Amino acid sequence: MTGLAEKLSEFRAGITAIDADYVRPKLAASHLVVDGGRAAFVDTGTTHSLATLLYALDAKGIGRGDVDWVLTTHVHLDHAGGAGALMRELPNARCAVHPRGARHLAEPSKLIAGSMAVYGEERYRALYGEILPIDAARIFEAADGARIRLGGRELELIHTPGHALHHYCIVDAANALIFSGDTFGISYRDFDVNGRPFIFPTTTPVHFDPDALCRSVDRLMSYRPRSIFLTHYAEVTDLERLAREMKERVVAFADLGARYRDAPDRADKLRHGMFAMMATWLDAHGFPRDDGRRHWLLDDDIELNCQGIENWLDRT
Ligand SMILES: [Zn+2]
Repeated sequence: MTGLAEKLSEFRAGITAIDADYVRPKLAASHLVVDGGRAAFVDTGTTHSLATLLYALDAKGIGRGDVDWVLTTHVHLDHAGGAGALMRELPNARCAVHPRGARHLAEPSKLIAGSMAVYGEERYRALYGEILPIDAARIFEAADGARIRLGGRELELIHTPGHALHHYCIVDAANALIFSGDTFGISYRDFDVNGRPFIFPTTTPVHFDPDALCRSVDRLMSYRPRSIFLTHYAEVTDLERLAREMKERVVAFADLGARYRDAPDRADKLRHGMFAMMATWLDAHGFPRDDGRRHWLLDDDIELNCQGIENWLDRT
């Protein structure tokens, strides 16, 4: 049991970050929000994360029937891959999803095929296992600005394109916090230096749109949050700096793509260029100059980011 207990981190406002155990520790979180005995999960990890999510409910003394919501910020499988399996355990929950993503959760075959194209079949199976469909009657299609209740609090669901067209974020205005999915980028706790977080954009295929992403970051900041909870990974503060760096880095990644748009060895140039760019940011951040560790922490994201940038170049 101690192994599972270590996967939970407690935050303010009734929030627990649960390590979804995706790829490596503290890479992807599901957040459990509890208010007045009612609960919601924000993102679910994959089907492999299910046991840990159910353990978290037990640890918090929440019955499976007390979970009102499964909030999937977008349908990428590290965020929503486990939603179908989780929904089967939660008799009273509804699953809120962006209208553009709803059919993918009700009928996940296209999602599965798309992810297999990105990861290859063998890695796909190891990462995600079986993706179960969600009964369409239990899916709540979240319009932009939709408001939902969780216990005594109101949550606003706002559309935030840029990382994905089917992405929404969850605003808890009373507590001055936002769950950002992938919209506010990635900030692994492994990169913290003296408690200072490091942030970078995720430009995963197939909807990356740099202008829309910067506008979505601005929209999040217009709520003046005190904390943002990222799926990758958990709470960050110091938001003015992080928002500025996020937008600068979105532009830097897009510029990198534009520079190599027509290069014959574009894929290679992009991957080397992105690592070099992130290395300069990590140097400035004061992160140890250990290239082996940097590659270990970054290479999967660099691969996905470069695929997404190439897809964007080919679309525009
Ligand atoms: Zn994503």
